[in-house]
Amino acid sequence: MTSERIVEILDKAAEILSRYPLCDYCLGRQFSSLCRGARNDEKGKAIKLMLTMRSLLKHREAGEVDEAIRAVAATGFNPAIKTLQAVGGELPDVKKCHICRGALDRSRFQEAAEKVAEELREYEFRNFLVGARVPADIREIEDSLRAQFSIDTGEDIKADITREVGRIIQGRFNVPVEYHNPDIAIVVDIFSGQHEIQINPLFIKGFYRKLERNIPQTPWYCRDCWGRGCEKCNYTGKEYPESVSELIGDPALKIFEALSYKFHGVGREDVDATVIGTGRPFILELKYPRKRLVDLSKLEKEVNEYAAGKVEISNLSYSSRKELRALKSLSPIASKTYEALVEFDGEVDDEKLRMIEEEFRDLFVEQQTPRRVLKRRADKIRQKKLYYIEAEKIDGRTVKFRIKTQGGLYVKELIDGDEGRTRPNISEALGRRPLKIDLTVIEVEAPGVEA
Ligand SMILES: [Zn+2]
Ligand SMILES: [Zn+2]
Repeated sequence: MTSERIVEILDKAAEILSRYPLCDYCLGRQFSSLCRGARNDEKGKAIKLMLTMRSLLKHREAGEVDEAIRAVAATGFNPAIKTLQAVGGELPDVKKCHICRGALDRSRFQEAAEKVAEELREYEFRNFLVGARVPADIREIEDSLRAQFSIDTGEDIKADITREVGRIIQGRFNVPVEYHNPDIAIVVDIFSGQHEIQINPLFIKGFYRKLERNIPQTPWYCRDCWGRGCEKCNYTGKEYPESVSELIGDPALKIFEALSYKFHGVGREDVDATVIGTGRPFILELKYPRKRLVDLSKLEKEVNEYAAGKVEISNLSYSSRKELRALKSLSPIASKTYEALVEFDGEVDDEKLRMIEEEFRDLFVEQQTPRRVLKRRADKIRQKKLYYIEAEKIDGRTVKFRIKTQGGLYVKELIDGDEGRTRPNISEALGRRPLKIDLTVIEVEAPGVEA
């Protein structure tokens, strides 16, 4: 019977309190799953009120109060103290909560939330998450109490802390709680009064075009001094003064008031290749940003002014770590289309060019690690797919190729053969050696990445 269950609950609560004084939160939490839409201290108060009223009824019938009201009064519950006084009962000493020792308290939650809010004031965020740290001994005390009284309606103590602190922060900043990818993650330790705030990075996706040659994608340290600065690099520590990463990241850092950034490109082109067409996809990761609600067209405009004539970005959108992970795993299978303007050491045979167009189609190219990257990459043979080559003769010795390949295929070596380390190759098929190769990336296609 339901009404008997209620009596059971009151009896159980009275029994618990007669052994262990519990605050409103810690008592209510043991019966938390019996009611929705109320906080645990409200549930605890309700139970304590019922026990107080029941004791008063018993006093009216039998002329004396039971132990329950004294146990409730010992938790510092004011209605029990007042009622006990009214019937002339002896007041017990008020004791600290057996589980939380008084840490779960509205004013303490308020205080903790205020401290967090003060620190968050300088940050923009779209959502947040509050976590709680609870000392192991407090968990053990609660666990053994639940075992002792066979409590199966309880809730985790963390829920009290995260709910109360979260509610105050939510009210202050008017942003929702986000469980999977919060902009801000807060960990509160209500027991020690400490807290930690984790500012999660902001991800921005876009496409870049590289209009000028000899700009590496990421800063390239001087080969002689490895960044310390030496005579050869004019004490800059760098092989090239600028990089795509810096040309995009530096203005972004200022706009978003971030501490640092990391540039993630979907693959990379050679330093001396340009990128045109739709451009190459990238994700910029901004760390500790103070601003997050910036109109991305402002970023696009400022980068394109700052990097004018060198790098141009477009199609910006807010992204996530999840998308970054997906993009990175796709990077090796992304296909790339290049345009290569090649000057050969002699007249190029038209027949041989047609043959290349016919035969260099949907095949696998075997490439031993190019000599020029051997210092940085392991020496091994890779097989990469070549989709097609289109050739357009510009003059007797110069040909413009359009080449579509799987990501990771070294195109320069596909053209010059790298002394036989890449097979097949254009140089061998033509019987001519290239004197000059101008390489441009015109398209990068990663599945799932749309321009
Ligand atoms: Zn407590
Ligand atoms: Zn140097």
